[in-house]
Amino acid sequence: MEQPQSTRLEMNDEIIKFLKREFETSELNRLPESYGGGKIFAPPLIGVAQAGDPIFQKYKEIIGPEHLTPLEMWLACGQDYNSISNLSTISILFPFDKKIRDESINPIDSRRLRKPAEIYTIARNFGNEFKWVCILKTIKMLNEKGYDATSGMLSDAYTIVLKGKFYTTWSERYIAFASGLGTLGLHEGLITELGCNIRLGSIITNAPLKITPRKTQEPYANCLYYAKGTCKECAEKCPVNAITEKGYNKIKCNKYRMKLARKIIPQIRSSLKTETRRVNWKLKKDISIVGCELCQFGVQCTDKNPMASHHVDFFSP
Ligand code: SF4
Ligand code: SF4
Repeated sequence: MEQPQSTRLEMNDEIIKFLKREFETSELNRLPESYGGGKIFAPPLIGVAQAGDPIFQKYKEIIGPEHLTPLEMWLACGQDYNSISNLSTISILFPFDKKIRDESINPIDSRRLRKPAEIYTIARNFGNEFKWVCILKTIKMLNEKGYDATSGMLSDAYTIVLKGKFYTTWSERYIAFASGLGTLGLHEGLITELGCNIRLGSIITNAPLKITPRKTQEPYANCLYYAKGTCKECAEKCPVNAITEKGYNKIKCNKYRMKLARKIIPQIRSSLKTETRRVNWKLKKDISIVGCELCQFGVQCTDKNPMASHHVDFFSP
C-alpha cells in the first residue's frame, strides 16, 4: 500500500536523527588521542533516490557496464525480489570535521613527493570503520522497524573493476548525485552543500522514504569552473597535473595515490587500521587504505557549494 508523504518524511527524519546521534556519541567517530582525539566527521546529511530512477540504468554507460542498479545490488545482496517501486537508496554524507579540514590545508613536502597532512591520512583511514558501523547500525534500526535493508559497499558484489577502465560496481558519488546531495566538480569529487571534503555511504531499503529530488540534472552544476569558467583551484593543488581544463585524469591520479600509499603506509603502519577490499571480485585482506585529496583542501568547494548563491543566474537564459 502506498504510504502517505507525511509517513515518508517522518522516516527520513527518524534516520537523520538516528545518524546524528551516532555521529555525536560513537567512539569510532574519533581520532586517536595521539592525533588530538577530536571528531572525524561533523553532522551528516542524507539524500534519497527512488531505486527505479532511470539514471541508475544510465550509470552503466557513464561509469561502466558492471556498475549495478539498486535492484541488481539488492538481489546480489541476497534480498527477496521486491517491486522496484518500493525500493529507495539512502545516501549518507560524512563531512570531515572543520579542524581536520583546517589542519590539512598545508601538505607535507618531502623529496619529490607532496603528501596530505598526517591528521587527514589518519582521519580518512579511521573514518572507514565508523562508516561501516554506522551503516550496519542503520540497517539494524530499519530491520527492527520491520523493513528490509542492505548496503552495496558491504556486499560481496562490491568490487573495484580493473578492466581497461577503473571503477567500482557501486559508486557512492553517483548514488549520492542521484539522491540530490550534490554534483561533481572539476576534481571529480562530489560538491555538496557541506563541501567536497567528505566520505559517502549508502543503504538500499524498502522502508517508506521521501525522495529528495535533484536540484539540477547538470552533473557539474556546483563547480565554478564548469558553471562560470573560473576557479580551477583544485588543478593548482594537484602535484601531478591530474586535473586540467580538459578535466580529471583518473589514471594519473591513481598512479600518484598508489605512490603515496607505498610511501605513507610503511611510515605509519602501526597507527593505521586495516580492512578488506575486492579487486576484480578477488578478496584482498588486511590492507591499509590511505588517500590523497590534496585537491580538496583550501579550495572554493572544500566546505561549501560555491555555486549555492549563483544558481539563479547559472540557469537563466
Ligand atoms: S576547486 Fe573550483 S574548479 Fe575545482 S572542483 Fe572546486 S569549484 Fe570546481
Ligand atoms: S587526489 Fe591527489 S593526485 Fe588525485 S587529482 Fe586530487 S590532488 Fe591530484
